[in-house]
Amino acid sequence: MAMLKLSLAFDVLAFVFFLCFIMSTGSYQYFLFVQQWPPTTCAVRKKPCYQNPPSKIFTIHGLWPSNYSKNAWVANCNGTRFSNSLSPALESKLKKSWPDVESGNDTDFWGREWNKHGTCSEQTLDQELYFQRSHIIWKAFNITNILQNAKILPTGSKWDYADIASPIKTVTTKMPALRCKPDPTQPKNPNNLTMPHQLLHEVVLCLHYNGRVLIDCNHTSTCKNNLKILFQ
Ligand code: 5GP
Repeated sequence: MAMLKLSLAFDVLAFVFFLCFIMSTGSYQYFLFVQQWPPTTCAVRKKPCYQNPPSKIFTIHGLWPSNYSKNAWVANCNGTRFSNSLSPALESKLKKSWPDVESGNDTDFWGREWNKHGTCSEQTLDQELYFQRSHIIWKAFNITNILQNAKILPTGSKWDYADIASPIKTVTTKMPALRCKPDPTQPKNPNNLTMPHQLLHEVVLCLHYNGRVLIDCNHTSTCKNNLKILFQ
């Protein structure tokens, strides 16, 4: 009996060590490339944004190494801290593709994203590459244009999930994931006359471990199935 207990304790300890190891080395399986819609970022924020009015262009929120298991969250890994030494040419591109929509402190935003997420994939993408790759994907798959071409315009219409996801899939050939936020201006208990909705907040493209090729996104949507999506 004592041997059994000892062996069980050893197994638990080994598992805990394994989990700690995974979390600190930033083992990951794929990337989420998250682009935000600034009007929604600012609408759900408690105070006004630096960009006022916010620009109507999808911009980068982050490139997040991730695991398929929800419990294996990958963030804040041991790795180099943001050195704020990106090449000037890249910095000027990122000011367009990856601005700090909320506060206007672009380098602080990049630094926070690198320290929280980029450190977990440093074995694949060093700091310059991480930001360069993000900019390249942003440019290659222009979500703003893709939706515009499909006549999905930010005019306050409400859409089904597939209306927005399908044209993106047609162009990228891979399934994106949409992320939504509750509309803070919507009454908590809407009457029967108002159809409740959610706001389109982010479009996610998923990338292979190597950060180079797109793959289908699975189960990463935060939108509610039964609610229409307002794009404004
Ligand atoms: P994460 O830290 O996991 O990458 O993303 C969540 C955080 O990012 C939230 O606290 C949100 O406020 C922040 N965030 C999203 N977009 C922006 C932005 O454009 N600027 C800044 N400063 N923070 C942002």
